[in-house]
Amino acid sequence: MLILFILCWIGIGYLGGKIAAKKGYSPKLGVILGFIFGWMWLLVALFLPRTTEAIEQDNFEKELAAAPKIANCPSCGKRIPFGSTVCPECEYQIGKR
Ligand SMILES: [Zn+2]
Repeated sequence: MLILFILCWIGIGYLGGKIAAKKGYSPKLGVILGFIFGWMWLLVALFLPRTTEAIEQDNFEKELAAAPKIANCPSCGKRIPFGSTVCPECEYQIGKR
């Protein structure tokens, strides 16, 4: 019974750290608070506002996901995969100066 209790407590600490990290707070702090306050901290953590860093990180990831995967060749203007070094159409070397 005691082992079960301890396992639960560790689980709460772990979860607290994960929630805190997701919201942009220190995961370590989340774990410590989880150990001290138990499930009450989990409830508080769930309703915590996200930090501006976390929101910015989210926006950055969204922008990355929305970024075009297709680029235009500067030489022939054909659509080529974004990040290509050589145009598959005209063999123009992109980025080489
Ligand atoms: Zn080209």
